[in-house]
Amino acid sequence: MGYSRCVTSTILVIGGVAGGMSAAARLRRLDEDAHIIVLERGPHVSFANCGLPYYVGGEIADQSALLVQTPESLAASLALDVRPGHDVVGIDPAAKTVQVRTSDGQTELAYDVLIVSPGVVAARPPVPGLDHPLVHTLRTVDDAIALRELAQGATRAVVLGAGFIGLEAAEALRGRGIDVDLIELADHVLPPLDAEPAWWVTSELKRLGIRVHTSTSVTGIADADGRARVTASDGTVVDADLVVLSAGTRPDTAVFEAAGMACERGSIVVDDHGRTNLPDVYAAGDATVSVDAVTAVRRPVQLAGPANRAGRLVADALRQESPRRIPRPLGTAIVRVGELAAAITGANRAALTAAGREFATIRIHPADHAGYFPGATTMHLLVHIDPSTGQILGAQGVGANGVDKRIDVLATAMRGGLRAPDLMDLDLCYAPPFGSAKDPVTMIGFVADNVLTGQTTLAQVEDLEQLRAQALVLDVRSAGEFASGHIPEAVNIPHTQLRGRLDEVRQLAGGRAVTTVCGVGVRSYIAQRVLSAAGFQASSLAGGMTSVRAWFGDDADAVLVKEDAR
Ligand code: FAD
Repeated sequence: MGYSRCVTSTILVIGGVAGGMSAAARLRRLDEDAHIIVLERGPHVSFANCGLPYYVGGEIADQSALLVQTPESLAASLALDVRPGHDVVGIDPAAKTVQVRTSDGQTELAYDVLIVSPGVVAARPPVPGLDHPLVHTLRTVDDAIALRELAQGATRAVVLGAGFIGLEAAEALRGRGIDVDLIELADHVLPPLDAEPAWWVTSELKRLGIRVHTSTSVTGIADADGRARVTASDGTVVDADLVVLSAGTRPDTAVFEAAGMACERGSIVVDDHGRTNLPDVYAAGDATVSVDAVTAVRRPVQLAGPANRAGRLVADALRQESPRRIPRPLGTAIVRVGELAAAITGANRAALTAAGREFATIRIHPADHAGYFPGATTMHLLVHIDPSTGQILGAQGVGANGVDKRIDVLATAMRGGLRAPDLMDLDLCYAPPFGSAKDPVTMIGFVADNVLTGQTTLAQVEDLEQLRAQALVLDVRSAGEFASGHIPEAVNIPHTQLRGRLDEVRQLAGGRAVTTVCGVGVRSYIAQRVLSAAGFQASSLAGGMTSVRAWFGDDADAVLVKEDAR
């Protein structure tokens, strides 16, 4: 290998995709004279990682669509010196140099300022046989090309990990007519979501014909006549034509950590302007530690928006007198699964519980647009709020239409510091094909206002066992709905009859509190108001039986009582 020393003093950017290229491009726009070199290990820069699953599935037909920019286009428009095939294998922060390996040998480059945005690589769990040639990750253009080639003619596939990328990969492969087994260690798919909304995603995966294995680990992969025999802890054995490994990530930071860059569990520690502990070295993107906007927990956030923004703000920090700080990310994300979208912003139940935060959950199941206008579909929205202050702590949505809009509005409200009751003040666009006069987001505002003013007390499905033990569960749906499946020991009095049957309720309650339940939480709220006015200690089950069914998931039919089964 040759070895040469370049004495150019300049700004070096390591990583030529989201964070790195945003930093480089912004720097150029702020400083026409800077010598900006971008070093990228792979053969491509500025490629659309987010589009890779859709290339595998064939929705993006042409590989060239994934290559948003090339070194030539970046040189022409931004005068950037972009060098693919340049792997940074060492840094000397004292000498302010990096060691770069290329196909021609090893070189050394000097820097005035170094910006690193190395991203993450797929985690490799200690599974025997994981190095089988049919096991692929999905992180680069080459990965996507390899998977698409394997998918052509394949009949069976296994996807390891049901996070965002795993779901996209499973959907893409199923769309090609391949039988897919999706294996997830957690007890529900899409672990960033709470279990209840994730159940609707599971249902859609099953509707697509994908076999979902949760609480399951892969125990081994062996060769079976040229196929990959995947064995899982639930007894599944599949001979697959391809296996997608999407079981988490790890920061690609070993080189930087070895040079003394401060890291936490491999993720680079940065301040609000992307500065690392090393002089004149900045970092951005998936490989950095963020401070969670809701819980203040320190964790990496691996999303394109925050990575691009951080890259831009690092450049600002280098060239502006009063640069904006890199904001704490909310982790707003969305994924398409079949006909559904599932989206999240802010903290989920597990994160809030781990952080010791008190929270109440608002659950609503509205139509995406006016119910009387053709094509309305139900969406499921769940919003965690601080029951004392009304702070919006997190939101999740699943549905066929309009979920992206509602979660984006909620993310905007969170960023702007709106409290949940303030959502009712939003003037959102409305005509029957697009929404409702009472938009789902304003509905959340109404419910939150009711909670904070004591107009309603929400009972939560996760406390159902306790409620059944301590309160009268009063199902206020029609007799027919009740018969189709109800909570054990619940008593049925339709809400339209309630005012005339209060003595009966008093007798049944025997001094206990009453929790009302209906289909989605609207009639139970009316009933709860009737009962509260009559002096009962009453609460309304948030989200009604729709949330109860999702909460119990596949067990719902076993748990709920059908009248003909009594
Ligand atoms: P990257 O964009 O990964 O870039 C890092 C680059 O640094 C890599 O190209 C790597 O080769 C290079 N590099 C690393 N180390 C070195 C070194 N030592 N020397 C030289 N080069 C080096 N996010 C969303 O918000 N929405 C989505 O829909 C979405 N979909 C995705 C789908 C897939 C399949 C993948 C893989 C990611 C997806 N993401 C999505 C995540 C998003 O792509 C990342 O958050 C974003 O790209 C992170 O930017 P980054 O700059 O930190 O890292």
